[in-house]
Amino acid sequence: MSHSNLKFIQREQLKVKPKASELGFGKYFTDHMFVMDYSTEQGWYDGRIVPYGPISLDPSAMVFHYGQEVFEGMKAYKTEKEGIVLFRPDMNVKRMNESSTRLSIPQVDPDYVLSAIKQLIEIDQEWIPEGDGTSLYIRPFIIATEPCLGVRAAKQYQLLVIMSPVGSYYKEGIHPVSIYVEDHYVRAVRGGTGAAKTSGNYAAGIKAQEVAKDLGYSQVLWLDGVENKYIEEVGSMNVFFKVNGEVITPELSGSILAGITRDSVIAMLRSWGVPVTERKISVEELFEAHQKGQLEEAFGTGTAAVISPIGSMKWEEQQIEIAGGEIGECAHKLYDSITGIQRGTLDDPFGWRQ
Ligand code: PMP
Repeated sequence: MSHSNLKFIQREQLKVKPKASELGFGKYFTDHMFVMDYSTEQGWYDGRIVPYGPISLDPSAMVFHYGQEVFEGMKAYKTEKEGIVLFRPDMNVKRMNESSTRLSIPQVDPDYVLSAIKQLIEIDQEWIPEGDGTSLYIRPFIIATEPCLGVRAAKQYQLLVIMSPVGSYYKEGIHPVSIYVEDHYVRAVRGGTGAAKTSGNYAAGIKAQEVAKDLGYSQVLWLDGVENKYIEEVGSMNVFFKVNGEVITPELSGSILAGITRDSVIAMLRSWGVPVTERKISVEELFEAHQKGQLEEAFGTGTAAVISPIGSMKWEEQQIEIAGGEIGECAHKLYDSITGIQRGTLDDPFGWRQ
């Protein structure tokens, strides 16, 4: 099925668009959304673009009770030379199918879903903000819609794609954040769902995030759920450290989300000749490296912020400052290079704009 077969029901009265200065993150939604249903008898069927609005679900829809859900997050940009571009969207659709495998949700046809997303963007293209640091955030998700209180894989699902114009993640430019090393709550365990993008992981993380905020820190550094020793992720981002000239990031152990920004950062650093190692790194090793004066930089990576430098870190009784609380050279260069590719102001040697 090509996207030209897509049914399209146009909104009668288009919404009033917010001002660029009011955007924030995920507060406003465009005029239309993509919807597609699944049943075991028919497979995925009735892909359609319809006016954005409330959906009607049975209160016994299985997603409400057992959380069978997956989602994705990606961004579209308006560029001067190439028109509307997405950043590596094929990776997002692939990852959604991988998450679905873990949640026993049926696979989608990646080419069909990607072309549906592209058509939705085209229809709502007036919603792509053009101000500095702004973009159109795209949120595909799948929910179990079958009305049933049995604990098993549902037989009916719905895939939706909604879109939100978002402002610059950093209102006053990129700035370093303070991190609290979480040694009580865990985000994911071996054999669990940490490597999938599913709502339950985020629900389980909110408590720790609140505790850290109350203590004055902006994000949580997650440790592994088995030994409470190895670093996994920071907030909802992957994490990188520069130690003695080498960049280290936790290996994809099965409990870490395989970030698309993570993959891009690794490829970019290697192309610059910077050594990058994916391996286990304990919080103890990290604090020791700091004691020896070898911890040069730390930063998180993710679609929302792209690069988020870490300026300080608190673990048990120890509080350390990283890169003098400033933005490290490596983090800065990565931020400029990746956002430059995304916005079309830099060449794209990796072919990431699509
Ligand atoms: N880890 C988690 C838990 C996340 O939610 C995200 C955001 N999707 C990331 C890492 C970063 O992934 P990406 O670079 O693909 O946005």
